[in-house]
Amino acid sequence: MTAAVKLAAAALSDVGKAREINEDAEYAGERVFAVADGLGGHRAGEVASRIAIEAIAELDHDMSGDPAGSLIEAVRNANREVFERAQHEADLRGMGTTITAVAIDGTRAHFAHVGDSRCYLFRDGAISQVTQDHTLVARMVAEGKLTQHQAETHPQRSILTRALGAGADVDVDTLELELYGGDRLLLCSDGLTATIPDEELREYATKRADLASICRALVDEANARGGPDNITVVMVGVEGPRHRPEPMAEAAPPKPEGRLATAPKPETARRRRVPVRLVVWASIVLVALVAGTIGVRSWLSRSWYVGVDGTTVAIFQGLPTDAIGDRLNNVKERTRITLDQVAPFYRPRLQEGIRVADLAAARALVARIPRSTATPAPTPSPSRSP
Ligand code: CA
Repeated sequence: MTAAVKLAAAALSDVGKAREINEDAEYAGERVFAVADGLGGHRAGEVASRIAIEAIAELDHDMSGDPAGSLIEAVRNANREVFERAQHEADLRGMGTTITAVAIDGTRAHFAHVGDSRCYLFRDGAISQVTQDHTLVARMVAEGKLTQHQAETHPQRSILTRALGAGADVDVDTLELELYGGDRLLLCSDGLTATIPDEELREYATKRADLASICRALVDEANARGGPDNITVVMVGVEGPRHRPEPMAEAAPPKPEGRLATAPKPETARRRRVPVRLVVWASIVLVALVAGTIGVRSWLSRSWYVGVDGTTVAIFQGLPTDAIGDRLNNVKERTRITLDQVAPFYRPRLQEGIRVADLAAARALVARIPRSTATPAPTPSPSRSP
């Protein structure tokens, strides 16, 4: 790991104009940052978001050499605590919380995310939504069942499909991103994103120098638009070399943005070397070919990946390579997502092909693909349920 980037941060949380208590919580430490949005009412949500934030904050001084693993473990532990206390303490019944957290180790940002709080990346003046909302409408948009416009007014737009405290275990989205000087991250609760569109977030987050004044301005703007929900923002600014050359990605075939790919799951996160991966596929295919054509076919039919067909994101059966002159894959499902709708930092990964276990896993991955223009934020409502 090369020298760490320098970080600066500011945070602000506000009850808003319509709620009596603030059930959001946030943490802005040295290398660890997080936002949690509690749900449950009667202060239970406040307890849930605090449990999550405290679990994350502990990592700031003890990441034990494995920031990604530590982060996911902290989130799972927080989930268990929220779930168990909600089971056993009558006044906490039904409580839950979102969590969107980042731990920065060296130049690398490790994210863990559950729910509809968000993280945005601002780079070169552009905004990308790093996290995907775990809401019913986001899922329906990803599956092509709703347009983004329909999602904005959908009666179930506030329903979360994932939250801490909803079950004994929880699926945690993880993601990694290389940071460069000039990058900024915004972590926020939906009280912000439901009131201020992405383009305006970009204006606020990129045009001012002072992070604390950006936080203040964002909260004030959300309140000026009715402040229907608690509003929490954490801004992180990165100082360091700009667009450091990436030796690992140098030889990667398609690299439109010159940025390192990121990984949706921990098991792929540590295998970023594209050429190595291609060599591995090719070797596997060769071995399989030697073993016999029938074996190859049945093996290929059990292999799935998400990649790009022309300019469209698609689910493929087979291997993400045309090794040894044979076409070893075919499109099984086309999505409605085009490559230019995918967050720039994620495009190289898709072009390379992301292997998954089966069709269901492929569809789940498609639903989580970070977009370059964010899906519309769900408007918060009191009936919001975990
Ligand atoms: Ca909220």
